[in-house]
Amino acid sequence: MATSETEIKAEKPLDFIRQIIRDDLASGKHKTPVTRFPPEPNGFLHIGHAKSICLNFGIALENNASCNLRFDDTNPSKEETEYVESIKNDVKWLGYDWGDNLFFSSDYFDNLYDYAVELIRMGKAYVCCLDAEEMREYRGTLTEAGKESPYRNRSVEENIDLFNRMKNGELAEGSHVLRAKIDMASPNLNMRDPVIYRIMKVDHHRTGSKWCIYPMYDYTHCISDALENITHSLCTLEFEDHRPLYDWFLDVLKTPAHPRQIEFARLNLSYTVMSKRKLMQLVSENLVSGWDDPRMLTISGLRRRGYTPASIRNFCDEIGIGKRESWIDMGVLENSIRNDLNEIAPRVMGVLDPLKVIITNYPEEQTEEIEGKNHPQKPEMGTRKLPFTREIYVERSDFMEEPPKKFFRLGPGREVRLRYAYFITCTDFVKDETTGEITEIHCTYDPETYGGNAPDGRKVKGTIHWVSAVHGVPARIHLYDRLFNIENPDADKDVNFKEHLNPDSLTTLTHSVVEPSLAGSAPGTRVQFERQGYFCVDKDSTDESLIFNRTVGLRDSWKKKK
Ligand code: ATP
Ligand code: MG
Repeated sequence: MATSETEIKAEKPLDFIRQIIRDDLASGKHKTPVTRFPPEPNGFLHIGHAKSICLNFGIALENNASCNLRFDDTNPSKEETEYVESIKNDVKWLGYDWGDNLFFSSDYFDNLYDYAVELIRMGKAYVCCLDAEEMREYRGTLTEAGKESPYRNRSVEENIDLFNRMKNGELAEGSHVLRAKIDMASPNLNMRDPVIYRIMKVDHHRTGSKWCIYPMYDYTHCISDALENITHSLCTLEFEDHRPLYDWFLDVLKTPAHPRQIEFARLNLSYTVMSKRKLMQLVSENLVSGWDDPRMLTISGLRRRGYTPASIRNFCDEIGIGKRESWIDMGVLENSIRNDLNEIAPRVMGVLDPLKVIITNYPEEQTEEIEGKNHPQKPEMGTRKLPFTREIYVERSDFMEEPPKKFFRLGPGREVRLRYAYFITCTDFVKDETTGEITEIHCTYDPETYGGNAPDGRKVKGTIHWVSAVHGVPARIHLYDRLFNIENPDADKDVNFKEHLNPDSLTTLTHSVVEPSLAGSAPGTRVQFERQGYFCVDKDSTDESLIFNRTVGLRDSWKKKK
């Protein structure tokens, strides 16, 4: 039987990619694997990227090898330095280290250009003047072969000259492209003379105005992998049909290395959208507060929400790596953070929707310091002092004017236990007759029940949380629900995904009161408010104005809804 976590992990069968790598090491094909994570810096990373990060960096860690962080920055019109920084920050935060292996595809623009000239010299590339529309027509369809471009058989000299003029900015955007000369009749559309360079008179975030032609993704990616001596180039399934092209470039150019591309199924998560383009729309249309809105499934959103790096790594580990497309329920991610926080988050008390209780037989000037456990199952996490006073707050939902029999909380004549303190019995309540709102309730306490037990053995069924009305600290609390109200907001092509936004995904409580030990909590502090869930201090929180975000409730509330 396994006795430690590491042994349990070691027993887990390898996924198919790790198996391939193990075989390659055993056969001596490679001494050590080299992987890479290649984001395009055109947005923030999301939970899908985390799957790829955990896979690539995880393999490196397990093999004492390295994983490169490479920014695939070949499209200057959409890419920005802000994204580069956020991506680095997110990868680091997830717990991974690229060491000295930070690269940019733009570092290879010279190599890529030289390789393109080589292709032209070999008669394997040509400058084409078809416009975008004609190009589409000539391309053919899945059932119909393409037609060869009338420019396909230009001489090497003419191609060299035109490509040079493209590079020198002498030709207009869209007027010429460089294409690989492969096979217009190939059943694989990617092989029908794909474009490898286009003219774009746009400055690049790293190379400035040096270039006005930029290489295409398929051409750049394989050569970048080869130049970095990547052994296993791991990507998602939609690139399966691009693999022949990946291999074609590297075979024809006889690059110093020929990495093996292996595809795995991307992460699809219910109740969210997972494309940067769509996340970008939510941000730019102010449907969320930014890339790090705690409802966003971006790494920065999850961080602000209170997710831990370990919970995300554990989630990725749990869902595993496979070859078949599948959907993961959002509940799996939520469980993963719940499991982690259950271990590490100190328990505290906070009243989200306060109702004042006056304990009529408690001395007015008195304050008692009551000891509360920071984690009932972990004495090593210590205790803290909770001031107890004649006036306290309890949760409005913990009182009912006419409670049903099974309501084990407060109601006229009902007795409950205040967590760590005394039994109290409700004797009276005050109601605003115009609004019908209960404004305060009156109780008596039993001084014999300190610590939560009655010497006469009488039992109470309910224990409720509370905060001293004198010492409690005001706080603003954000309660979050899922951003979308259906499992797959993308499913119906006729309905825009934004139609499925959950209008109740954010509730802001402005009058909450939390126990005084939380005064001045630093942003990022994680706690469990007893009975209410796990919360994290927001990055905008200050000593004067505390803000908590609810990371996740104590139970999966969506399970019941279904
Ligand atoms: P998006 O569709 O969100 O724009 P992308 O694939 O265009 O994502 P890139 O920056 O190109 O974003 O992705 C970097 C890496 O992350 C790629 O190797 C890509 O395969 C991987 N990746 C992106 N989305 C997922 C996902 N949902 N599951 C697993 N890996 C993913
Ligand atoms: Mg991409």
